[in-house]
Amino acid sequence: MSINIPQNTFQREYEAHRQAYEEKALAVLRSGWYVLGAEVEAFEREFANYLSVRHCVGLANGLDALIIAFRILGIGKGDEVIVQSNAYIACVMGITINGATPVFVEPDAFHCIAVAKIEEKITANTKAVLAVHLYGQATDMLPLKALCEKHNLKLVEDCAQSHGAMVEDQYTGTIGDIGCFSFYPSKNLGAFGDGGALVTNNEAYAQAACVIRNYGSEKRYHHCTVGLNSRLDEFQAGLLRVRLMYLREIESERRRVAKCYESGIKHPEIIKPTLRVLAPESHVWHQYVVECGRRDELAVYLSAQNIGTIIHYPIPPHLSEAYADLGYQKGDFPIAEHYANTVLSLPLYYGMTDQEQQYVIDAINRFA
Ligand SMILES: *Cc1c(COP(=O)(O)O)cnc(C)c1O
Repeated sequence: MSINIPQNTFQREYEAHRQAYEEKALAVLRSGWYVLGAEVEAFEREFANYLSVRHCVGLANGLDALIIAFRILGIGKGDEVIVQSNAYIACVMGITINGATPVFVEPDAFHCIAVAKIEEKITANTKAVLAVHLYGQATDMLPLKALCEKHNLKLVEDCAQSHGAMVEDQYTGTIGDIGCFSFYPSKNLGAFGDGGALVTNNEAYAQAACVIRNYGSEKRYHHCTVGLNSRLDEFQAGLLRVRLMYLREIESERRRVAKCYESGIKHPEIIKPTLRVLAPESHVWHQYVVECGRRDELAVYLSAQNIGTIIHYPIPPHLSEAYADLGYQKGDFPIAEHYANTVLSLPLYYGMTDQEQQYVIDAINRFA
């Protein structure tokens, strides 16, 4: 028996819904219109409906969504944005590309920002908090929102990993001022290339995003600001519309796999993810992340048995070469550094069979 289990694959979901994707792809090719057209408009409407939010603006990728969000909020040089120390590097780049300074706060046991540790980091220059719903688990948004209101801070949500995750009866991305999404292929709602979006209930923000994504033009060849080229193309938007129809199914598949790991993994050295139930769907399992003191050994051991794993992420932003100029050192954010040294994302994908999962579970439980 030759079994080979990737950490992720898009193949099975594609095969399951192949006809719908292929029909849409052909329809877009034949339409003769490829950037910012009817498919983008329809996707924006449908994704906004899915999230029960007023506006959705399709963009080129998730990083642009963050960059544009902070720009719309007027955050730039001299301003500080609070973000968790175990964030993905793109979260921090969204802040610094605008000239603002990231101020790191350690994560809680759920890998999201520890809301109780934010207040001590607020200064006269603090303008916003970026909440990253890491691995698909929602941040403790209601106390965070109250804190932001108390200190008159903007609240931006990075939902690149949390499509569909909820806090009580609200979707992540719709609780703060602006929600930023990525549709990179590996995300829960993935495109067949790059894509992103920003969502908001604020009409002025949505209009500003539409202007910035298209060279700062409100009408053709009339430019009111120096914008970007961050347009979502028709091809991705059309295919995202198809995938959005299957998102509930994709979510329940991920939940099924996560549940199976939860009940099957029994190893004294392996810590399974801790759940914070803020709603029945407060975790959408973008990743199933375990912690292990001998993480690197575990990864090598699993790899030898043809089981793929990934580390999300091995270097926290404050220790990244890209941010050497911020002047941080090892030991400055011990919790983020601990996670960087111990986390491991197990295989989790649509269509993972019971046999494949049992193989992973058995291998893990036999880890000596
Ligand atoms: C993927 C991701 C991004 C960036 O999205 P891109 O579409 O790749 O630019 C930002 N933040 C988080 C948390 C992500 O996982």
